[in-house]
Amino acid sequence: MKNYSVLILLFTILFTMPSGASAQKMANFNETVNVRSAPNLSSSVITQVHQNESHPIMEEDGEWIQIQLDAEKVGWVASRLVTITSENNSSKTIESTVSDLQVRAGPGKEFPVLGSIEVNTKWDVIKTEKDWIAIDYKGQEGWVASWLVNSTTESDQAVSSIKEVQANILNVRESQGLGSRIIHQLPSGSVVEEVKKENDWSFIRYDNGQTGWVDSSFLKETTKSAGSRYATILYQATNLRDGPGLGNKVITQARLHEKYQILSKEGQWYEVALTDGSSAYVAEWVVSTAASLSTKQNLHARKTVVLDAGHGGNDSGAQGITTLEKILTLRTTSTIAEKLKSAGVRVILTRDTDTYIALDERTTISERNNADAFVSIHFDSTVDPTANGTTTYYYDQSDMSLASAIHNKIGDDTSLRDRGVRFGNYYVLRNNKQPSVLLELGFLSNPWEEQLVNRLDYQAEITSEVANGILSFLQ
Ligand SMILES: [Zn+2]
Repeated sequence: MKNYSVLILLFTILFTMPSGASAQKMANFNETVNVRSAPNLSSSVITQVHQNESHPIMEEDGEWIQIQLDAEKVGWVASRLVTITSENNSSKTIESTVSDLQVRAGPGKEFPVLGSIEVNTKWDVIKTEKDWIAIDYKGQEGWVASWLVNSTTESDQAVSSIKEVQANILNVRESQGLGSRIIHQLPSGSVVEEVKKENDWSFIRYDNGQTGWVDSSFLKETTKSAGSRYATILYQATNLRDGPGLGNKVITQARLHEKYQILSKEGQWYEVALTDGSSAYVAEWVVSTAASLSTKQNLHARKTVVLDAGHGGNDSGAQGITTLEKILTLRTTSTIAEKLKSAGVRVILTRDTDTYIALDERTTISERNNADAFVSIHFDSTVDPTANGTTTYYYDQSDMSLASAIHNKIGDDTSLRDRGVRFGNYYVLRNNKQPSVLLELGFLSNPWEEQLVNRLDYQAEITSEVANGILSFLQ
């Protein structure tokens, strides 16, 4: 117990944010980023931060930012990988999704319970650490499990705020204020994303991810956002072309996770809006749209799916001629994750980098997050080079409805042979208390099939089928 009180004291000293006007600057991450011991690429990587994490900024040094990792640890990240927001304590709130959610004295189940909060009540967030969130609990700091709450932040709300420029020419500036350097000019009618608003200035994203500050009074709400659909880019450096087909000229490239408004559809191609008022075409198999999934968003809110990319790190899994199973499972799994997220599902990955994760850790993640479904993704291998097809494995009868929901989708339409639903004595199924299945999505030991499962169109098809199967199970 002694250790805990020292820890609590440390947290209190180091994390208590100044109240009032001065807001803590936070570094927010949209992807996994290396954290280094010093502000340069030759220093050692001390840890990684992941998507949706945010950390207080301690210091800025050129292109590097020093962030606070925990009570005693700081590290450096490249500033281009960071979205900076200023927040004060009140800009972030959580609501419990369960009744009588326990509030603890520290970030972990081992800390004593201080009390509980009721479902759907709002609480101000003080800070977050890994899977735990500190709230202002009746004047003291109390910790709740992040997987049992819904959180709302200023920037979350602003993400979908699409605005239209109504000045003849709108200056985009490096920072707030008329004295700040002009870095770009946007013509009237340009559509931009308002990421956040401070005083009378808006921080916007325009032209494929560039950012800057503009005078908020020259942005207006636009009907272009109402009812419009967006395509989210699923692969880094995706080509945007001047016509609907692979033969057309590449105008520009889109980055991973960028969102584009869809103007029309021609065959398998979406016409999407660029912020300069022109448009470009992108293939449907490299994007995810909420509408490409079979069901409505709200239906799946608060459902949790754990996706498990098989193997990783020094465990490569099966090897094809050019393919390592661990790499392909990661790629397939992250695409399924994007598709589920756009349907409103809370998705947790057992790994999002090429790292080794023990089997028992994988089932622990499933259990700890109370997964509504656990799906492990693999690619097959055997000595017979002609073996082919996809297989859905279950261990317990109670996993059958998940197995058949997914199998109904992949068995039906996939270009590969359907090997059906089978019993599989796998650790991640046998030792999993949550509904769980393991999918083998093609044979890497079959050279023809190895080629096929790597193709973007197969990946687009199979990931939609698996996502749709999971969604139909969750309904
Ligand atoms: Zn495998």
